[in-house]
Amino acid sequence: MCSPRPARTLPRWPSVGPRLASPRVTSAIALSELTTLRLGGPAARMVDATSEGELVSLVQACDARDEPLLVLAGGSNVVVADAGFDGTVVRVATRGVDELERSDGRVWLDVQAGEEWDALVATCVDNGLSGIEALSGIPGSVGATPIQNVGAYGQEVADVIAGVHALDRESGVVHALDVEECLFDYRSSAFKRDPGRWVVLRVSFAFEPGEESEPVRYAELARRLGIDEGERAPLVDVRAAVLELRRAKGMVLDSRDPDTFSAGSFFTNPVLREHAFAELVARARDRLGPDVQPPSWPASHHRYVKTSAAWLIERAGFEKGYGNPDGIAISSKHTLALTNRGNGTTTELVALALEIASGVRDAFGVELVPEPVFAGHSWLP
Ligand SMILES: Cc1cc2nc3c(=O)[nH]c(=O)nc-3n(C[C@H](O)[C@H](O)[C@H](O)COP(=O)(O)OP(=O)(O)OC[C@H]3O[C@@H](n4cnc5c(N)ncnc54)[C@H](O)[C@@H]3O)c2cc1C
Repeated sequence: MCSPRPARTLPRWPSVGPRLASPRVTSAIALSELTTLRLGGPAARMVDATSEGELVSLVQACDARDEPLLVLAGGSNVVVADAGFDGTVVRVATRGVDELERSDGRVWLDVQAGEEWDALVATCVDNGLSGIEALSGIPGSVGATPIQNVGAYGQEVADVIAGVHALDRESGVVHALDVEECLFDYRSSAFKRDPGRWVVLRVSFAFEPGEESEPVRYAELARRLGIDEGERAPLVDVRAAVLELRRAKGMVLDSRDPDTFSAGSFFTNPVLREHAFAELVARARDRLGPDVQPPSWPASHHRYVKTSAAWLIERAGFEKGYGNPDGIAISSKHTLALTNRGNGTTTELVALALEIASGVRDAFGVELVPEPVFAGHSWLP
């Protein structure tokens, strides 16, 4: 466990995002109003935590009453049941950014869980801090980023996280976990592997100062910037290019664009053992032709490779836009995003997801794993 020195609040780090505007305790509110999929029935009880102490005590009070608890922040990675959530929803509305004193040349920020992630990215880019510029445009809160180790365009939040303060609901104790203890992996962490156990209170980041980005490690982004992979570019240019690429895929929230009414990518990219990937190549060639080569990238574990869920879904016969044009359908811009075009239900969303997963299993023998978290219901029937 790390024990950071006391934080000092600096005026140049104001709270970075807009505040939640809802009442502090609510009951009848439909969770569809608080999720980017615009799906989900009511919560039995809802309460906003506006300080770290309040967040801890609200969660502990729920646990003492043995009441089901849903910790909710931006609602951008959660699929809530049509029947809603029969328990307490605690909304993470904590704010504050402190700079920590360190002498390693990096800038250390301690950020409360309820701060808005993309506002933090914008602030870092404006202040010449590199490391999260390629994570521009991801909706949601700072506190949720360690949960699934958010990543995009060649960067992962784990690259800049120095530690996480989190409440362990099993012991009732707040821990300062260092980065090794967070067990970060592709779309995974100690928090994700033990669902519901940890409540992230604040996240410590260590950023390199400078106007240039970290080396760009994503081919499409490098091409857009007119540089080679591995080169750097001005932070502002990287943020602008990422936002442009993401908008074209419906991956930046936009109330006018139903392609963005999603939970982002619905499935993670499968990570396969080398022999399972060889079987996939054989099945793909049988089905699609002898020259076909499914995409692959090295995975973090030895003898594993990562392949593309979007490639598998498309080759299994599910095209962009597949589904109900007024309800639940695959985004017309991005095969991995399942969207609610207006009149959809969670039941229909899960049915489409299961149809896609079963189509990919039948075609290629690969099991797709959903990325969002399910609340009030489970993924498998
Ligand atoms: C259009 C769009 C694009 C997206 N693009 C990306 C992308 O490029 N890369 C990527 O990785 N993700 C992406 N996502 C997914 C999502 O934005 C991220 O996972 C984000 O970090 C979720 O934050 P949130 O505050 O909305 O979490 P919520 O949806 O509120 O919660 C998600 C889960 O985390 C838990 N949780 C939230 N806060 C805490 C906390 N403080 N402590 C403990 N548990 C907590 C919740 O209980 C829930 O289980 C995208 C989503 C959308 C809608």
